[in-house]
Amino acid sequence: MAPTFVDEIFEAFDRRGADQYGEDITQLEHALQCAQLAREDGASDSLVAAALLHDYGHLFEGRGEQAEHGIDAHHEAHGASLLKRWFGPEVTRPIALHVAAKRHLCATEPGYEDGLSDASRLSLQLQGGRFTPEQRQKFEAAPFAQDAIRLRRYDDAGKVQDARVPPLETYRDLLARLGEAAQKRTD
Ligand code: FE
Ligand code: FE
Repeated sequence: MAPTFVDEIFEAFDRRGADQYGEDITQLEHALQCAQLAREDGASDSLVAAALLHDYGHLFEGRGEQAEHGIDAHHEAHGASLLKRWFGPEVTRPIALHVAAKRHLCATEPGYEDGLSDASRLSLQLQGGRFTPEQRQKFEAAPFAQDAIRLRRYDDAGKVQDARVPPLETYRDLLARLGEAAQKRTD
């Protein structure tokens, strides 16, 4: 079978999925856990795909470009722009907004910031900290903001060591379907 965009995505995980996510789990484990949490939550296919691919941008960073080195490589924007080649905004917007969603939740939900992992708290500072009231309003008005907040909760929870979750291959059809649907809309 001819290689597809799904193969290209899976190859990126093959190349870099074993990188550390930063909380004693790998990028691939984090992605699979987030997608599984979305499935268990009854999320739409597009939100499941967004959960799986929300840190896709990390797979293309230089290995020193991480929060622990004091660098914010804007992985959310980079990932979304790469994925725009294949998917519609229902997948790429929640991805682009998943860091903003953290800043929003820090500003709006009592106790949320205290519950973040050490790595998430460290990166929060680099990402600009909690939102101001004006930033909150702007975020809330953005399309797919609510999906971004749901995605954020999977992101925060998908950091369990040695969790047993379905493998990447189980998402092949879902990704192919979403990509084809987005392609049809632009034809
Ligand atoms: Fe992220
Ligand atoms: Fe993440």
